[in-house]
Amino acid sequence: MKKKHFSVLMILMLLTGCSKQLDDINWKFWEYFTENGTSEEVVEEIPEEEPVEEEEKPEDIPQTEEPPETDENQFVLEEPFFTVLNEEKVIENTDNILVLVNKDQSLPADYIPKDLTIPDVPFSFEGDYDKKYLRKEAARALEGLFAEAETENVEIFAVSGYRSYETQYGIYNTYVKKWGEEKTNAVSAIPGHSEHQTGLAMDISSRSAALDLTEEFGETPEGKWVKEHASAHGFIIRYPEDGEVITGYQYEPWHLRYVGKEVAAYIDEHDLTLEEFFDRAIKQ
Ligand SMILES: [Zn+2]
Repeated sequence: MKKKHFSVLMILMLLTGCSKQLDDINWKFWEYFTENGTSEEVVEEIPEEEPVEEEEKPEDIPQTEEPPETDENQFVLEEPFFTVLNEEKVIENTDNILVLVNKDQSLPADYIPKDLTIPDVPFSFEGDYDKKYLRKEAARALEGLFAEAETENVEIFAVSGYRSYETQYGIYNTYVKKWGEEKTNAVSAIPGHSEHQTGLAMDISSRSAALDLTEEFGETPEGKWVKEHASAHGFIIRYPEDGEVITGYQYEPWHLRYVGKEVAAYIDEHDLTLEEFFDRAIKQ
């Protein structure tokens, strides 16, 4: 049917001299048709002389269009939530709650979130350190996640949250001295490129994983519980299994990133990385 309609359309075009009205319809139809095959195939399959049936009017054509399936799968997002970069790929709208920090784009060295606060959750260590802090919205959400865990007797601990540029600088260089640059880059961020500087990321662990940040955490009952429940509280597993090609990082079942409930649910449902989410999202 599709090919037949197309053929009819082509002939109508020829007969009518391709009026302006038809142009619009043709274009839609062409888009639809080329989704189902290459243009070469299409051209080859046009019979040169096929009788035009009276009832085949251009008005019928839109009925053959596919439903806008992709629209249902796209996330409409307001423009301020997209990350704005300068020429050096340094982020300009740093306080954006959906800020995308990765190996390709970085935060300014002097960026410190203004609303850092300590979430009321159990930590794996004592004392008042920077790494206890998160931005307010993320801190409240983390409290919600931990509270739900507690009601289900799942014992998890916050291990490492906000990290300043300077701290990341120290960590990165220590690793480079120990392991060299290549190995370090697979697990640690160059200063400015760490998501921990956003104050929107928290590493977590459990006693069953010796409170360590290792892949084993993902296999523990606590790690599995977190994977299941994180999105309901606005968090995603930022570096998922098999996501290294896209994120540039190995699987980190312990690294939670706050993105808000709506985005987290969408990412979870469609099994995306944050990078893939922004590739799909439509600016409003
Ligand atoms: Zn982390």
